[in-house]
Amino acid sequence: MAAVVLSELPEELQQRVQATRERVAALHAELTRYELVVWTAGNVSERVPGSRPGDGLPELFVIKPSGVSYDELTPEAMVVCTLDGNKIDDGTPDALKPSSDTAAAAYVYAHMPEVGGVVHTHSTYATAWAARQEPIPCVLTMMADEYGGEIPIGPFAIIGDDSIGRGIVETLQGSRSRAVLMANHGPFTIGKDARDAVKAAVMCEEVARTVHIARQLGDPVPIAQHHIDSLFDRYQNVYGQGTTDQEKTQ
Ligand SMILES: [Zn+2]
Repeated sequence: MAAVVLSELPEELQQRVQATRERVAALHAELTRYELVVWTAGNVSERVPGSRPGDGLPELFVIKPSGVSYDELTPEAMVVCTLDGNKIDDGTPDALKPSSDTAAAAYVYAHMPEVGGVVHTHSTYATAWAARQEPIPCVLTMMADEYGGEIPIGPFAIIGDDSIGRGIVETLQGSRSRAVLMANHGPFTIGKDARDAVKAAVMCEEVARTVHIARQLGDPVPIAQHHIDSLFDRYQNVYGQGTTDQEKTQ
């Protein structure tokens, strides 16, 4: 299939691509601000709003480039891809390649139409739980609020095909959580948009750290399921603006 050419798309869609580039570039500063990443690891991506099946236009998302340091992540450096993970022809150099996690993000966007943002980090405490392949138990009300239960472990998967994406989707489709700890790797989070997925990544590290510290002096006490259910329901449907439509119906 011939590459999508940005300049041939409707002007309005081109403007949405540009706005998405700006949002995704700016949100990378949150990963460093909360110390969730080192060197060039980690990435934020976002589905270009409105590019969904049925409207006759290509479905696009914007993701961090591969191997570019965080202080060089300008809107122009962001990479625009179709849902098969291929970069579109947008006039940027071929050397500007999408993140090595692009196939995983593309798989999530292709298989979870309600997801508008995906974030991946190797944040220390969350990744330590992933190293033990141990889900983070729901022992904090903020976990019940944000994730509706434990933060689950996904399968062990090697980068290079769609096995990471498949593992994320299979784990999160059976969970209320917006975060999954991929075994021996680290957290991937989803959200209604990129900002929502960044929030899920920040909160994931926060609860991973707190529950780790709680463990040092004893056994954290699980929250009763009916309390988890009511906390989750209240937070998702009453407090603030809620999250994804899928979570609202679960
Ligand atoms: Zn990784």
